[in-house]
Amino acid sequence: MKHMNKNTEKSFLSKVYVIVALIIAILALLLYLILSGGAEKIQKAISSQDKPAHTQTPEADDKTPESTQTPSAEPSSSADTEDPAETAEASSEPEPTPSATAEITDDIESDDSLTKIVSPSRTIASSYVPANLVMPDVPCILDENQNLMRADAAAALEEMFAAAGNDGYELFLISGYRSYEFQQMLRKYWVEKKGEAYADELDTKPGGSEHQLGLAANIGTTDGKCELNVCFADTGAYAWLKENSWKYGYIERYPESKQDITGITFSPWNFRYVGKDAAERIYQSGKTMEEYYGLS
Ligand SMILES: [Zn+2]
Repeated sequence: MKHMNKNTEKSFLSKVYVIVALIIAILALLLYLILSGGAEKIQKAISSQDKPAHTQTPEADDKTPESTQTPSAEPSSSADTEDPAETAEASSEPEPTPSATAEITDDIESDDSLTKIVSPSRTIASSYVPANLVMPDVPCILDENQNLMRADAAAALEEMFAAAGNDGYELFLISGYRSYEFQQMLRKYWVEKKGEAYADELDTKPGGSEHQLGLAANIGTTDGKCELNVCFADTGAYAWLKENSWKYGYIERYPESKQDITGITFSPWNFRYVGKDAAERIYQSGKTMEEYYGLS
């Protein structure tokens, strides 16, 4: 500095002041942008140029929770739901699945409906005999008093047994359709053998068993291991059925710890055909038919 004259020093200092002032101005502008959210606007503008117009950035999604919650907040959708439990579930979940809010329109009353519910407290007329009973082409006792099924249930059973076979489980149809008269015989047999209280826990009440619909299948394995015994629940075949039966339209009908709801003791061998669409929904709900259709 000593060698600089006054004017040179003065002009150098003024340049420094201008640079410092510019830096301060830029910093102030950046601070303003950050505080006002301008940076995000700029970032969004940049990212929306990079992507097709219809895709939203994650930031944009986070900022619009109102729009994604609208379905559950709509009064009409909850008013349509008949089951109070369903309504409570739907309104507490931020992103309800379509099945949680959609109205269930399956017919559980008509005798020929695939989702008809029969139980000891919802009996069917002694005269009811389903149409289209056929013998499914699966391993079974070749007795038409034991193994007939409704045609669609039989076809699905064949498909399911083939798939299980491919995975190493040789399934066996123990019992399908039962006439009212056959149920009377069966009931008498169990009452005499084990007493009335025991018989009441099984799905053997005449007119109170879904076997009369031709849609219930008692399933075991060709080796007969744990046939019609709760120890069937410990087999790989049961695990396979529990995980896969819904894909073929079958659901486990009398699960463990649900006797208070179904009226029937845990019957891991008993699967019920309801059609693929209903089976998927009921399976995904994790409920029994009684719970799913609001009967409990
Ligand atoms: Zn059964």
